[in-house]
Amino acid sequence: MGALIRSLFEDYWHYFDKGYTLCHYTFIGLADFFVFIRVFNFGGFCANYLRAAGTLSIGCTLVLLKYPNPATMLRILASRKSVKSFAFVTAALLFFAPFWVQAQSDTYEVFAIKFAGTDKQFYEAEWATGGGKDVPVPISFMFWLLKGKNGRNILVDAGFMPEKVKEEEFFKLAGYIRPDSALLKMGVKPGDISDIILSHPHWDHLGGAALFPNATLWMQEHDFEGFVGTAWQKDGRRGGFAQGDVRMVIDLNLAGKLSLIAGDNKDILPGVTVFTGSKHTYDSQYVMVSNGKEKVVIASDNIWIYYSLDHLTPPSPGGTTDPQGYVEAIKRR
Ligand SMILES: [Zn+2]
Repeated sequence: MGALIRSLFEDYWHYFDKGYTLCHYTFIGLADFFVFIRVFNFGGFCANYLRAAGTLSIGCTLVLLKYPNPATMLRILASRKSVKSFAFVTAALLFFAPFWVQAQSDTYEVFAIKFAGTDKQFYEAEWATGGGKDVPVPISFMFWLLKGKNGRNILVDAGFMPEKVKEEEFFKLAGYIRPDSALLKMGVKPGDISDIILSHPHWDHLGGAALFPNATLWMQEHDFEGFVGTAWQKDGRRGGFAQGDVRMVIDLNLAGKLSLIAGDNKDILPGVTVFTGSKHTYDSQYVMVSNGKEKVVIASDNIWIYYSLDHLTPPSPGGTTDPQGYVEAIKRR
């Protein structure tokens, strides 16, 4: 049986090699078998069970993950000579089917939602170091919806409320639609939003969070500390922060609806990972999610405009406290 597992597994080695992440696991190879360290973000149960169940179940689970369709799985297994193996793997398939279904469901449709534009003409150089002074660049205000097959509706950022901060004047806002109204056009009600991952607490990303009563707000710990604390000290760095938003975040925390994230490369929700390093604010973060076919990275202000992505340049001065870190974050794969 060990050989069967090994041969089945090797067929799919390349998926692991390429960082295939749909099912979110890490594993280590130990001679003839493989041990999951973490499986599907199910928490302790599945991982512990697999360790206890030993190598055969583990091997078969690997196989199971690689076939998107159980019927296909059975057909392929049936074509193998050993009836015993077939019976065993069928049993394993039935046992692990719920986990498989869950793993499949941790993928998302990803929507970018524009909720405001601007009547002011901006140029590349205003947003990216080295950008053209005369090259016009359109500026849009966006947030993102991750619509999960697992039932979660996650926002990355939440837009802003109207007439709230002086920056709106600067941008000459045009075509504003309140973020909850924009979502309603897509059939998503405010109460349907389960989570908001805040890339950073600037006014145009955070103010709309108050519109979603059932959402947990996810924020980097260092960003939170700077936002509610040091930013408001003498000479504190608070550009783009709104005092009303600070109060809102503190209220969310008091209500148990704020979840702080401690640093880089964290799996915070099924199928969703966040990264830091750009330092657009104290510790801004960006988001990686799978849509079932590929990984999608939502950069938010960690890349302001495509010029920075194309030329690997930092933003214009003020866009980060760590220009090198900002570029390194863009380069990460
Ligand atoms: Zn920003």
